[in-house]
Amino acid sequence: MIRFENVTKHYRGTSKPALHDVDFEVQRGEFVFLVGASGSGKSSCLRLILREDAPTEGRVIVLGRDLRTLANRKVPYFRRHIGSVFQDFRLLPNKTVFQNVAFTLQVIGSSRAFIGQAVPEVLALVGLEGKDKRLPHELSGGEQQRVAIARALVNRPQVLLADEPTGNLDPATSVDIMQLLARINAGGTTVVMATHEAGFVDQMQRRVIELRGGVVLRDERHGRYGDTSGLPSLAPAPVKGAAATAALTAALELHREISAAGAEGGAETERVPDAAPAARADAPAPVAPADGAGSPASRVEERPAPSAEMTPSTRAIPIVAPPVDLDGLGLTGLDVDRLGLDDGTDDEVGPTS
Ligand code: ADP
Ligand code: MG
Repeated sequence: MIRFENVTKHYRGTSKPALHDVDFEVQRGEFVFLVGASGSGKSSCLRLILREDAPTEGRVIVLGRDLRTLANRKVPYFRRHIGSVFQDFRLLPNKTVFQNVAFTLQVIGSSRAFIGQAVPEVLALVGLEGKDKRLPHELSGGEQQRVAIARALVNRPQVLLADEPTGNLDPATSVDIMQLLARINAGGTTVVMATHEAGFVDQMQRRVIELRGGVVLRDERHGRYGDTSGLPSLAPAPVKGAAATAALTAALELHREISAAGAEGGAETERVPDAAPAARADAPAPVAPADGAGSPASRVEERPAPSAEMTPSTRAIPIVAPPVDLDGLGLTGLDVDRLGLDDGTDDEVGPTS
Protein backbone atom coordinates (compact mmCIF):
# COMPACT_ATOMS: atom_id res chain seq x y z
CA MET A 1 0.00 0.00 0.00
CA ILE A 2 2.78 2.39 1.02
CA ARG A 3 6.47 1.68 0.60
CA PHE A 4 9.45 3.84 1.47
CA GLU A 5 12.66 2.59 -0.10
CA ASN A 6 15.78 4.15 1.38
CA VAL A 7 14.16 7.53 1.43
CA THR A 8 16.24 10.56 2.27
CA LYS A 9 14.74 14.03 2.33
CA HIS A 10 17.03 17.00 2.46
CA TYR A 11 15.36 20.39 2.55
CA ARG A 12 17.14 23.21 0.84
CA GLY A 13 19.11 25.40 3.19
CA THR A 14 19.32 22.84 5.99
CA SER A 15 22.44 21.07 7.09
CA LYS A 16 20.91 17.79 8.23
CA PRO A 17 18.44 15.70 6.26
CA ALA A 18 14.88 15.65 7.66
CA LEU A 19 14.68 11.94 6.75
CA HIS A 20 17.64 9.65 6.33
CA ASP A 21 17.48 6.25 4.66
CA VAL A 22 13.92 5.58 5.76
CA ASP A 23 12.66 2.16 4.77
CA PHE A 24 9.29 0.66 5.63
CA GLU A 25 6.21 -0.84 4.10
CA VAL A 26 2.59 -0.51 5.17
CA GLN A 27 0.18 -3.23 4.13
CA ARG A 28 -3.40 -2.75 3.11
CA GLY A 29 -5.64 -2.57 6.16
CA GLU A 30 -2.92 -1.76 8.66
CA PHE A 31 -3.12 0.88 11.37
CA VAL A 32 0.32 2.40 11.81
CA PHE A 33 1.52 4.99 14.26
CA LEU A 34 4.33 7.19 13.11
CA VAL A 35 5.77 8.49 16.32
CA GLY A 36 8.63 10.71 17.36
CA ALA A 37 9.38 14.06 18.90
CA SER A 38 8.68 17.30 17.12
CA GLY A 39 11.05 17.69 14.20
CA SER A 40 11.73 13.96 13.88
CA GLY A 41 10.31 13.83 10.35
CA LYS A 42 6.73 12.59 10.74
CA SER A 43 5.06 15.30 8.69
CA SER A 44 7.77 15.01 6.07
CA CYS A 45 6.86 11.34 5.65
CA LEU A 46 3.19 12.14 5.27
CA ARG A 47 3.92 14.86 2.72
CA LEU A 48 5.96 12.40 0.69
CA ILE A 49 3.07 9.92 0.74
CA LEU A 50 0.72 12.62 -0.54
CA ARG A 51 3.29 13.65 -3.11
CA GLU A 52 3.28 17.16 -1.78
CA ASP A 53 7.02 16.81 -1.80
CA ALA A 54 9.57 14.52 -3.43
CA PRO A 55 12.39 12.63 -1.76
CA THR A 56 15.96 13.70 -2.38
CA GLU A 57 16.97 10.05 -2.64
CA GLY A 58 15.06 6.80 -2.64
CA ARG A 59 11.58 5.87 -3.76
CA VAL A 60 8.11 6.28 -2.36
CA ILE A 61 5.51 3.88 -3.71
CA VAL A 62 1.86 4.43 -2.83
CA LEU A 63 -1.06 2.38 -4.11
CA GLY A 64 1.21 0.69 -6.58
CA ARG A 65 2.52 3.94 -8.02
CA ASP A 66 6.12 4.98 -7.95
CA LEU A 67 5.53 8.63 -7.12
CA ARG A 68 8.63 9.69 -9.06
CA THR A 69 6.93 8.64 -12.26
CA LEU A 70 3.43 9.85 -11.40
CA ALA A 71 2.61 12.66 -13.83
CA ASN A 72 1.66 15.95 -12.26
CA ARG A 73 -1.68 15.93 -14.01
CA LYS A 74 -2.48 12.61 -12.32
CA VAL A 75 -1.68 13.81 -8.84
CA PRO A 76 -5.20 15.10 -8.10
CA TYR A 77 -6.67 11.72 -9.05
CA PHE A 78 -4.06 9.94 -7.01
CA ARG A 79 -4.90 12.07 -3.97
CA ARG A 80 -8.56 11.11 -4.15
CA HIS A 81 -7.51 7.76 -2.78
CA ILE A 82 -5.86 9.31 0.24
CA GLY A 83 -7.79 11.17 2.90
CA SER A 84 -5.88 13.48 5.19
CA VAL A 85 -6.58 15.00 8.56
CA PHE A 86 -4.50 17.57 10.39
CA GLN A 87 -3.99 18.92 13.87
CA ASP A 88 -5.65 22.24 13.00
CA PHE A 89 -8.74 20.69 11.32
CA ARG A 90 -8.52 23.01 8.29
CA LEU A 91 -12.25 23.51 7.90
CA LEU A 92 -13.75 26.24 5.78
CA PRO A 93 -14.92 28.67 8.48
CA ASN A 94 -17.87 30.15 6.59
CA LYS A 95 -19.29 26.87 5.44
CA THR A 96 -21.57 24.59 7.42
CA VAL A 97 -20.62 21.10 8.49
CA PHE A 98 -22.57 19.70 5.56
CA GLN A 99 -20.94 22.10 3.09
CA ASN A 100 -17.47 21.39 4.41
CA VAL A 101 -17.92 17.70 3.77
CA ALA A 102 -19.84 18.14 0.51
CA PHE A 103 -17.16 20.43 -0.86
CA THR A 104 -14.77 17.55 -1.51
CA LEU A 105 -17.41 15.80 -3.59
CA GLN A 106 -18.43 18.95 -5.45
CA VAL A 107 -14.84 19.50 -6.49
CA ILE A 108 -14.73 16.13 -8.17
CA GLY A 109 -18.11 16.63 -9.82
CA SER A 110 -20.29 14.26 -7.82
CA SER A 111 -24.01 14.56 -8.46
CA ARG A 112 -26.30 16.38 -6.05
CA ALA A 113 -28.13 13.14 -5.43
CA PHE A 114 -24.92 11.35 -4.50
CA ILE A 115 -23.81 14.21 -2.26
CA GLY A 116 -27.23 14.25 -0.61
CA GLN A 117 -26.79 10.63 0.31
CA ALA A 118 -23.07 10.35 1.01
CA VAL A 119 -22.67 13.38 3.28
CA PRO A 120 -25.35 12.45 5.85
CA GLU A 121 -24.01 8.90 5.86
CA VAL A 122 -20.49 9.91 6.65
CA LEU A 123 -21.63 12.48 9.22
CA ALA A 124 -23.59 9.75 10.97
CA LEU A 125 -20.56 7.55 10.85
CA VAL A 126 -18.43 10.07 12.74
CA GLY A 127 -21.23 10.80 15.21
CA LEU A 128 -22.33 14.19 13.94
CA GLU A 129 -25.97 13.52 13.15
CA GLY A 130 -28.07 16.63 13.48
CA LYS A 131 -25.10 19.01 13.38
CA ASP A 132 -24.96 19.42 9.62
CA LYS A 133 -26.13 23.04 9.67
CA ARG A 134 -23.61 24.23 12.24
CA LEU A 135 -20.65 26.38 11.38
CA PRO A 136 -17.22 25.22 12.56
CA HIS A 137 -17.04 27.84 15.32
CA GLU A 138 -20.27 26.41 16.75
CA LEU A 139 -18.59 23.07 17.34
CA SER A 140 -16.18 21.76 19.96
CA GLY A 141 -12.65 20.89 18.90
CA GLY A 142 -13.45 17.21 18.90
CA GLU A 143 -16.50 17.80 16.74
CA GLN A 144 -14.48 19.92 14.34
CA GLN A 145 -11.99 17.10 13.99
CA ARG A 146 -14.88 14.72 13.31
CA VAL A 147 -15.98 16.99 10.49
CA ALA A 148 -12.45 16.91 9.11
CA ILE A 149 -12.45 13.12 9.35
CA ALA A 150 -15.83 12.94 7.63
CA ARG A 151 -14.51 15.15 4.87
CA ALA A 152 -11.46 12.95 4.47
CA LEU A 153 -13.61 9.82 4.31
CA VAL A 154 -16.51 10.90 2.12
CA ASN A 155 -14.52 10.02 -0.95
CA ARG A 156 -13.93 6.48 0.37
CA PRO A 157 -10.15 6.72 0.31
CA GLN A 158 -8.04 3.60 0.60
CA VAL A 159 -5.65 5.34 2.96
CA LEU A 160 -6.27 7.86 5.71
CA LEU A 161 -3.31 9.96 6.83
CA ALA A 162 -3.66 11.79 10.11
CA ASP A 163 -0.99 14.27 11.17
CA GLU A 164 -1.24 14.84 14.94
CA PRO A 165 -5.05 14.69 14.76
CA THR A 166 -5.36 14.87 18.53
CA GLY A 167 -2.76 17.58 18.99
CA ASN A 168 -5.33 20.28 19.73
CA LEU A 169 -7.69 18.16 21.79
CA ASP A 170 -8.05 17.31 25.47
CA PRO A 171 -7.27 13.73 26.53
CA ALA A 172 -10.87 12.48 26.68
CA THR A 173 -11.69 13.92 23.28
CA SER A 174 -8.46 12.53 21.93
CA VAL A 175 -9.55 9.06 22.99
CA ASP A 176 -12.83 9.56 21.15
CA ILE A 177 -10.98 10.50 18.00
CA MET A 178 -8.61 7.56 18.36
CA GLN A 179 -11.53 5.19 18.71
CA LEU A 180 -13.09 6.69 15.63
CA LEU A 181 -9.89 6.14 13.68
CA ALA A 182 -9.74 2.56 14.94
CA ARG A 183 -13.28 2.02 13.75
CA ILE A 184 -12.47 3.48 10.36
CA ASN A 185 -9.53 1.12 10.15
CA ALA A 186 -11.79 -1.77 11.12
CA GLY A 187 -13.87 -0.90 8.07
CA GLY A 188 -10.87 -1.58 5.86
CA THR A 189 -9.18 1.79 5.47
CA THR A 190 -5.44 1.80 5.95
CA VAL A 191 -4.60 4.40 8.59
CA VAL A 192 -1.26 6.11 9.18
CA MET A 193 -1.29 8.43 12.14
CA ALA A 194 1.58 10.70 13.14
CA THR A 195 1.70 11.56 16.80
CA HIS A 196 4.15 12.40 19.54
CA GLU A 197 1.80 11.11 22.23
CA ALA A 198 2.94 7.76 23.50
CA GLY A 199 -0.07 7.26 25.75
CA PHE A 200 -2.38 6.52 22.87
CA VAL A 201 0.15 4.50 21.03
CA ASP A 202 0.68 2.14 23.91
CA GLN A 203 -3.04 1.78 24.52
CA MET A 204 -3.88 1.02 20.94
CA GLN A 205 -1.36 -1.79 20.55
CA ARG A 206 -0.80 -1.23 16.87
CA ARG A 207 2.28 -1.10 14.75
CA VAL A 208 4.62 1.69 15.73
CA ILE A 209 7.28 3.22 13.50
CA GLU A 210 9.38 5.55 15.60
CA LEU A 211 11.49 8.27 14.05
CA ARG A 212 14.28 10.12 15.74
CA GLY A 213 16.14 12.82 13.89
CA GLY A 214 14.84 11.52 10.57
CA VAL A 215 15.97 7.94 11.18
CA VAL A 216 13.73 4.95 11.90
CA LEU A 217 14.51 4.01 15.48
CA ARG A 218 12.12 1.09 15.70
CA ASP A 219 9.38 -0.56 13.73
CA GLU A 220 7.37 -2.77 16.00
CA ARG A 221 4.18 -4.63 15.67
CA HIS A 222 2.41 -4.89 18.98
CA GLY A 223 0.73 -8.06 17.94
CA ARG A 224 0.24 -9.29 14.43
CA TYR A 225 -1.37 -7.57 11.50
CA GLY A 226 -4.88 -6.61 12.37
CA ASP A 227 -4.42 -7.84 15.89
CA THR A 228 -6.76 -6.35 18.43
CA SER A 229 -5.22 -8.12 21.38
CA GLY A 230 -4.43 -4.79 22.97
CA LEU A 231 -8.09 -4.12 23.43
CA PRO A 232 -9.55 -5.49 26.63
CA SER A 233 -11.24 -8.84 26.51
CA LEU A 234 -14.95 -9.19 26.12
CA ALA A 235 -16.89 -11.91 27.84
CA PRO A 236 -18.21 -14.34 26.97
CA ALA A 237 -17.23 -15.08 23.39
CA PRO A 238 -15.40 -12.83 20.96
CA VAL A 239 -17.01 -12.09 17.61
CA LYS A 240 -14.76 -12.17 14.62
CA GLY A 241 -13.77 -9.74 11.96
CA ALA A 242 -14.07 -6.03 11.49
CA ALA A 243 -17.44 -6.00 13.18
CA ALA A 244 -15.76 -7.28 16.30
CA THR A 245 -13.33 -4.40 16.33
CA ALA A 246 -16.17 -1.99 15.82
CA ALA A 247 -18.09 -3.65 18.60
CA LEU A 248 -15.08 -3.46 20.88
CA THR A 249 -14.60 0.22 20.36
CA ALA A 250 -18.31 0.73 20.88
CA ALA A 251 -18.06 -1.16 24.12
CA LEU A 252 -15.07 0.90 25.19
CA GLU A 253 -16.94 4.12 24.57
CA LEU A 254 -19.97 2.79 26.35
CA HIS A 255 -17.83 1.91 29.30
CA ARG A 256 -16.44 5.42 29.45
CA GLU A 257 -19.94 6.77 29.39
CA ILE A 258 -21.00 4.43 32.16
CA SER A 259 -17.96 5.32 34.23
CA ALA A 260 -18.69 9.00 33.79
CA ALA A 261 -22.33 8.49 34.75
CA GLY A 262 -21.26 6.31 37.67
CA ALA A 263 -18.99 9.02 38.94
CA GLU A 264 -22.05 11.24 39.14
CA GLY A 265 -23.93 8.60 41.06
CA GLY A 266 -26.22 7.15 38.44
CA ALA A 267 -24.77 4.58 36.13
CA GLU A 268 -26.99 3.64 33.25
CA THR A 269 -26.33 0.34 31.67
CA GLU A 270 -29.11 0.25 29.13
CA ARG A 271 -28.34 3.36 27.17
CA VAL A 272 -26.04 3.47 24.20
CA PRO A 273 -24.47 6.92 24.07
CA ASP A 274 -25.52 9.10 21.17
CA ALA A 275 -22.14 9.39 19.62
CA ALA A 276 -21.11 5.83 20.31
CA PRO A 277 -20.20 3.81 17.29
CA ALA A 278 -23.01 1.38 17.10
CA ALA A 279 -21.80 -1.83 15.59
CA ARG A 280 -23.57 -4.80 14.23
CA ALA A 281 -21.97 -7.86 15.68
CA ASP A 282 -23.57 -9.80 12.87
CA ALA A 283 -22.29 -7.48 10.17
CA PRO A 284 -20.16 -8.99 7.45
CA ALA A 285 -16.48 -8.31 7.86
CA PRO A 286 -15.91 -6.63 4.53
CA VAL A 287 -12.18 -6.61 4.25
CA ALA A 288 -11.21 -9.24 6.72
CA PRO A 289 -9.11 -11.90 5.14
CA ALA A 290 -10.22 -15.47 5.51
CA ASP A 291 -10.08 -16.75 9.05
CA GLY A 292 -6.62 -17.60 10.08
CA ALA A 293 -3.44 -15.99 11.22
CA GLY A 294 -4.11 -12.71 9.48
CA SER A 295 -7.71 -12.28 10.44
CA PRO A 296 -8.29 -8.92 12.06
CA ALA A 297 -9.95 -9.06 15.41
CA SER A 298 -9.63 -12.80 15.53
CA ARG A 299 -7.93 -12.53 18.87
CA VAL A 300 -9.29 -10.38 21.60
CA GLU A 301 -7.68 -11.69 24.71
CA GLU A 302 -5.87 -9.39 27.04
CA ARG A 303 -2.20 -8.64 26.69
CA PRO A 304 0.33 -6.95 28.89
CA ALA A 305 1.07 -3.38 27.97
CA PRO A 306 4.16 -2.84 25.86
CA SER A 307 7.13 -1.17 27.42
CA ALA A 308 7.50 1.43 24.73
CA GLU A 309 9.03 4.62 26.00
CA MET A 310 8.42 7.82 24.20
CA THR A 311 8.32 11.37 25.35
CA PRO A 312 8.62 12.04 29.05
CA SER A 313 5.26 13.81 28.93
CA THR A 314 3.47 10.58 28.17
CA ARG A 315 -0.19 10.82 28.95
CA ALA A 316 -1.51 7.50 30.03
CA ILE A 317 -5.13 7.30 29.01
CA PRO A 318 -6.77 4.39 30.77
CA ILE A 319 -8.95 2.44 28.41
CA VAL A 320 -10.46 -0.38 30.39
CA ALA A 321 -13.68 -2.13 29.56
CA PRO A 322 -15.84 -4.13 31.92
CA PRO A 323 -17.11 -7.49 30.81
CA VAL A 324 -19.86 -6.38 28.45
CA ASP A 325 -22.45 -8.62 26.89
CA LEU A 326 -22.50 -7.27 23.37
CA ASP A 327 -25.70 -9.08 22.50
CA GLY A 328 -27.43 -7.31 25.32
CA LEU A 329 -26.36 -3.88 24.16
CA GLY A 330 -28.44 -3.80 21.06
CA LEU A 331 -25.65 -2.16 19.13
CA THR A 332 -27.07 -1.52 15.75
CA GLY A 333 -26.82 0.95 12.97
CA LEU A 334 -23.21 1.30 11.94
CA ASP A 335 -22.84 0.23 8.40
CA VAL A 336 -19.33 -1.07 8.73
CA ASP A 337 -19.15 -2.12 5.13
CA ARG A 338 -19.79 1.42 3.95
CA LEU A 339 -16.55 2.55 5.47
CA GLY A 340 -13.66 3.54 3.29
CA LEU A 341 -13.87 0.52 1.10
CA ASP A 342 -12.61 0.45 -2.39
CA ASP A 343 -14.08 -1.90 -4.88
CA GLY A 344 -10.89 -1.91 -6.87
CA THR A 345 -12.61 -0.80 -10.04
CA ASP A 346 -10.79 2.50 -10.29
CA ASP A 347 -8.23 2.39 -13.01
CA GLU A 348 -6.46 5.60 -12.13
CA VAL A 349 -4.57 4.09 -9.27
CA GLY A 350 -4.46 0.36 -9.01
CA PRO A 351 -4.67 -1.29 -5.64
CA THR A 352 -1.60 -3.09 -4.49
CA SER A 353 -0.21 -4.71 -1.44
P1 ADP B 1 7.68 16.40 12.64
O1 ADP B 1 6.42 16.37 11.83
O2 ADP B 1 8.06 15.07 13.21
O3 ADP B 1 7.64 17.45 13.71
P2 ADP B 1 8.88 17.49 10.24
O4 ADP B 1 8.79 16.46 9.20
O5 ADP B 1 7.91 18.60 10.20
O6 ADP B 1 8.88 16.78 11.67
O7 ADP B 1 10.33 18.13 10.21
C1 ADP B 1 11.51 17.34 10.17
C2 ADP B 1 12.69 18.28 10.04
O8 ADP B 1 12.66 18.89 8.75
C3 ADP B 1 12.73 19.40 11.04
O9 ADP B 1 14.07 19.63 11.38
C4 ADP B 1 12.16 20.56 10.28
O10 ADP B 1 12.68 21.76 10.76
C5 ADP B 1 12.64 20.29 8.88
N1 ADP B 1 11.70 20.80 7.86
C6 ADP B 1 10.43 20.42 7.68
N2 ADP B 1 9.88 21.05 6.63
C7 ADP B 1 10.84 21.86 6.13
C8 ADP B 1 10.90 22.77 5.04
N3 ADP B 1 9.84 22.97 4.24
N4 ADP B 1 12.06 23.42 4.82
C9 ADP B 1 13.13 23.21 5.63
N5 ADP B 1 13.14 22.37 6.65
C10 ADP B 1 12.01 21.70 6.92
MG1 MG C 1 4.67 17.40 12.15
